Amino acid sequence: MTQEDTRATNERLRSLPAVDKVVGSMGFDGPQARATAMARRALDEARVEVRQGSEAPDFDAIIDRAETLMIEELRMGLVRVINATGVIIHTNLGRAPMGSEQIRAVIEVAGTYSNLEYDLSEGRRGSRYAHATRLIARVTGAEAAIVVNNNAAAVLLTLAALCSGREVIISRGELVEIGGEFRIPDIMSISGARLVEVGTTNRTHLVDYERAISPDTAAILKVHPSNYKVVGFTSTVPARDLARLATGRGVTFLHDLGSGLVTDDAPADFTGEPLVQVALEDGANVAMFSGDKLLGGPQAGIIVGHTHHIIQLERHPLLRVLRVDKMTLAALEATLRLYLDGRTDEIPLWRMARTDADELERRARAIAEELREIGSIKVEAFPTRSVAGGGSLPDVEVGSWAVALLPDRAGASELQRSLRRSDPPIVARVEEDRVLLDLRTVAPDDDRTLAAAIRRVLG
Ligand SMILES: *Cc1c(COP(=O)(O)O)cnc(C)c1O
Repeated sequence: MTQEDTRATNERLRSLPAVDKVVGSMGFDGPQARATAMARRALDEARVEVRQGSEAPDFDAIIDRAETLMIEELRMGLVRVINATGVIIHTNLGRAPMGSEQIRAVIEVAGTYSNLEYDLSEGRRGSRYAHATRLIARVTGAEAAIVVNNNAAAVLLTLAALCSGREVIISRGELVEIGGEFRIPDIMSISGARLVEVGTTNRTHLVDYERAISPDTAAILKVHPSNYKVVGFTSTVPARDLARLATGRGVTFLHDLGSGLVTDDAPADFTGEPLVQVALEDGANVAMFSGDKLLGGPQAGIIVGHTHHIIQLERHPLLRVLRVDKMTLAALEATLRLYLDGRTDEIPLWRMARTDADELERRARAIAEELREIGSIKVEAFPTRSVAGGGSLPDVEVGSWAVALLPDRAGASELQRSLRRSDPPIVARVEEDRVLLDLRTVAPDDDRTLAAAIRRVLG
């Protein structure tokens, strides 16, 4: 490098603005320290470029870079997104959102001490599960209950506590993967129970189970087909028949229900899932389900059944490993109370499921009307179908309405990507070259935010 070059480089480095000046011009009202860190990084990058022989970037370019870094940094954490997929229980987007009553319960216990494991009438140690258990029993009619981290944990604990070292019979049609690495055979092997497969993928008969029962059999397990449907030449054994067989032969009948529907006033489209109450009436000794699928509460695994079985689960060391925290229990209790009080409209899942298509059409038309004129992209209201999702009701679709974006030059997936990058990020579907923003899963309060984001992306 010549002396001349060195002098020019130093000149350019000196021309770069001070950190404070960059921070002062950044459009940002969060913590000062974060803005300062990003301004430093933007300036560091500029220095590297100058040393490699580039011109110094101008002031606006540095501000731009610092702001971009800021946005990227914010994105690295857990952030709210607008779910415009129409999939109500979207596992990747956090499953069931909670309503104000449920959230209030979480906030209350999060910020104070509580009687989590303290018996206030006796003044001594109590059970963490006692409060929720009473409510679960009232909602489902179960004799006893326990709560763990999620339904996968519920299945694991049940098998480990009741079947370890012995055989568990299950239909080949139910050896399923629920997604996210939950595979029944894997859970079974971790639990120490031995899997005995009966029947075929499409057909299993009562006699298949009957023949498989041996002195080593601990239980028959039925797994609800949550996210798939075997169609055509099929046959499965009803829970009631399995329960009768199990009782007659002195083995336990376990029923993994998956979704955990507990209300019989669900919209007609959602009644395909087994009711927890009915599964118990049908003779399940132990049944398990998720807290954040069709219950509409926090992530949790709820196990219901006979007292003497639940006691065995309570005594198993895995319960401590799989235990839920106070915020989960608070949210779960609030959720169960909403069912008991007949206030299911305050559970967002049911509010979204029940919104009628006319209402969604009106909202879609209002947004489309407002955005019609933007750029070269056509915006229109478009009828579509939403699904329950999250491993429930695999064949059920509900009529819905979307805001459809019909891109011209930029492709639909490019537009979908830009929406994901907006603030808040918007997750949409692409169907036949259209970007569809299904309003069933968008809170009405978010319509304005959604419209503004589309305007920015298209503008
Ligand atoms: C969803 C599901 C699970 C797993 O439940 P998580 O709460 O996600 O752990 C297990 N079994 C069935 C049948 C399911 O549908």
